[in-house]
Amino acid sequence: MSTFFSSQLKNLAPYTPGEQPQDQQYVKLNTNESPYPPSAGVIAALNDKEAADLRLYSDPECKELKKALAGYYGVEPENIYVGNGSDEALNFAFLSYATDGRGVAFADITYGFYPVFADLYHIPVQIVPLKSDFSIAPKDYYGLNKTIVIANPNAPTGLALSRDEMEGIIKANPDSVVVVDEAYVDFGAESCVELTKIYPNLLVVQTYSKSRSMAGARLGYAIGNAELIRDLETVKFSTNPYNVNRLTLRAGVQAIAEQDYYTENCKKIMATRAYTKEKLEALGFTVLDSRSNFLFAMKPGTDGGAIYRGLKERGVLVRHFDKDPIRDYNRITIGTPEQMDIFLKKLEELL
Ligand code: PMP
Repeated sequence: MSTFFSSQLKNLAPYTPGEQPQDQQYVKLNTNESPYPPSAGVIAALNDKEAADLRLYSDPECKELKKALAGYYGVEPENIYVGNGSDEALNFAFLSYATDGRGVAFADITYGFYPVFADLYHIPVQIVPLKSDFSIAPKDYYGLNKTIVIANPNAPTGLALSRDEMEGIIKANPDSVVVVDEAYVDFGAESCVELTKIYPNLLVVQTYSKSRSMAGARLGYAIGNAELIRDLETVKFSTNPYNVNRLTLRAGVQAIAEQDYYTENCKKIMATRAYTKEKLEALGFTVLDSRSNFLFAMKPGTDGGAIYRGLKERGVLVRHFDKDPIRDYNRITIGTPEQMDIFLKKLEELL
């Protein structure tokens, strides 16, 4: 990297995405993707005509998708921002709201992109420690008077606050934006989307990457007060107006029409999660009470890194974060029951 042109970036530690091996040889339980394919209509919608239309730019206003999402959530299209993954919506939220000089607050253990966005934009950060059981104490967020970002359920713990607890935080910070990252909300947690109709300082961010089986399409969205959304749109139209491609927009609209399929998948994943948790506990693991499509687990007296490496050698990929105090843990995405049986078998072999 050129030190002359990139002097501002010299100290930035970029986000490290989970491994994406291209040879497909692993049972891949490391990046919280859905083990189930997109719905039949989504696959059919990506047809020859749609491919031929790629010569045309995509709709920069994402009108059709905003209409579909607005109908689904009972809000207006002006309350919705559509992004290139929810990462983009979060990125623009940091840039839009947290650069006002007051800074941003988030948990010490949470989604690894938050500190990167803060660094990138030179935003002062207030770290709010989790409790020793990895849960969030809502009152720690009362009256912070700065942008607040909370992943609910949190990652990589999978623990969630109730909607009432979130509402307490939103009410206790009337002059700051509260961003609730609901990437994993469809796996048994309570969404705050309804609260966006009451609280103008709330932005809820969701994604198609997990419950809607479309991580590779890169589609996320934010729901909130029209003014908050306008700020995100301003950043988008100042950087990349065609941020969501035509195929993804088409797939996104179709998926809303087939929501029942995705709801069924979530139920299957939650059942597989309960099964896997029970088996892990029987093997002596401590497993957090996940409301997401992954489990966060450790075996007392066992090296989490060694488990990660041992599983990888045996063809199973999970996610290990090599930092305190979560070094002993692994984050295991919930796959199909068959994939989880392979994981459990390889784990038993290893122990
Ligand atoms: N938020 C959280 C908490 C996540 O774990 C992820 C997935 N890495 C994202 C947001 C981003 O998801 P995407 O950009 O695929 O929508």
